[in-house]
Amino acid sequence: MQTVHHDFAEPSSLVEALALLADHGPGAITVAGGTDLLRNIRLGKIQPSLVISLARLDVLAGVRPAADGGLNVGPLTTMAALARSAHVLERAPALADAAGHMGSPQVRNRATIGGNLCNARPCADTAPPVIVHGATLELTRKDGMREVAAADFITNPGQTLIQADEILTAIRLPAPGGPAGSAFETLTNRKAVEITITSSTAWLRLDGGRVDQARICLGSVGPIPLVAPTGEALLQGAEPTAENLAAAATASVNDASPMDDFRGSADYRNHLVEVLTRRALTKALERAQGGAS
Ligand SMILES: Cc1cc2nc3c(=O)[nH]c(=O)nc-3n(C[C@H](O)[C@H](O)[C@H](O)COP(=O)(O)OP(=O)(O)OC[C@H]3O[C@@H](n4cnc5c(N)ncnc54)[C@H](O)[C@@H]3O)c2cc1C
Repeated sequence: MQTVHHDFAEPSSLVEALALLADHGPGAITVAGGTDLLRNIRLGKIQPSLVISLARLDVLAGVRPAADGGLNVGPLTTMAALARSAHVLERAPALADAAGHMGSPQVRNRATIGGNLCNARPCADTAPPVIVHGATLELTRKDGMREVAAADFITNPGQTLIQADEILTAIRLPAPGGPAGSAFETLTNRKAVEITITSSTAWLRLDGGRVDQARICLGSVGPIPLVAPTGEALLQGAEPTAENLAAAATASVNDASPMDDFRGSADYRNHLVEVLTRRALTKALERAQGGAS
C-alpha cells in the first residue's frame, strides 16, 4: 500500500461534475462506491490528481420503469438496491440474481452497477445480465451525450468505450417485446469475498411455444464477457425442451475461451459453462413461462 495525495471534489450537480472532469483533464477520475477505485489508488495502480465523487448526484441513483415497458437503471444504484428492487426482480431478474450474489453485504451496500461496468473486469458480474437484456448505455460529457450498446462497451480487460471526460449516466433496458425471462448462474470458491470462477447468463423470449429469441453471455471465460452465438443459434425458433436447452448449453462451450489460473483450469471452466448455461436457460424459461421479463 502507498501513501497517496490527490485533490478531492464532491459536486452537487451533474453539470458541475462534468465541468470538473473536462476542465481538469486526464488526471481527474470519478469515484462511485469506491470499492474498486480506492484499492487501485492505494496499490499505486492509478495516481489521479483529482478524485471526483459522484455520491451526491442522486439523479444518477435508482431504478425507474420506462413508459414503453423497459427499465432505466441509474449507474449509482448499489448492488443491494438492485437485488431487492421489485422492478428489477420483475423485468430483469438476471440482474437481480447477479447483484445479489456479488461480494459480501458490506460490498453490496457500497458497490454500484456503474462502477462494475466501467471497471470492466472479465468477472464483472452485472455486465452479462445487462448485455443479454440488450441494454444501451448513456455516456455524457460537458458538451454532449451519446449512446452505445452494452454488448460493445467493454473492449478489453479494464477498458471500455468511455472517454476520460465522460460519465456513464444511464443504463437502459428495452422492453422485452413478448413473454421473456432471464437468469444468472455462477460459481465462486468462497461466496463472501471471492470473484466469479465462471458465470452464465441467459435471456429467452417465447412466441407460441417456441423460442423467438435467445441470448447467452458468459463471464470469466475470456478477456471480456462473451456472448455465445453458437448456443443462441441452436435455440432460435426451436421448442424450449430440456434436450434443446441442454444442446445449446453444450454448444456454448465453443464460444468460451477460458484460461488456466489458480481459481480453476480451462477444462473445469468449460465444464462449468455447460452446467451453468443449462441451469440459466432452464430458469430463464421458467421465468418466461411464469410471466417475468
Ligand atoms: C471484497 C470485494 C468483493 C468483490 N466481489 C465482487 C464480485 O463478486 N463480483 C464483481 O463483479 N465485483 C466484485 N468486486 C468488485 C467491485 O466491488 C465492483 O466492481 C463494484 O461494482 C464497483 O463499483 P464501485 O461503485 O465501488 O466503483 P468505484 O470503485 O467507485 O469505481 C470503479 C471504476 O469505475 C469508474 N466509474 C464508477 N462510476 C462511474 C460512472 N458513473 N461513470 C464513469 N465512470 C465510473 C471509476 O472512475 C473507476 O474507474 C468486489 C470488490 C471487493 C472489494
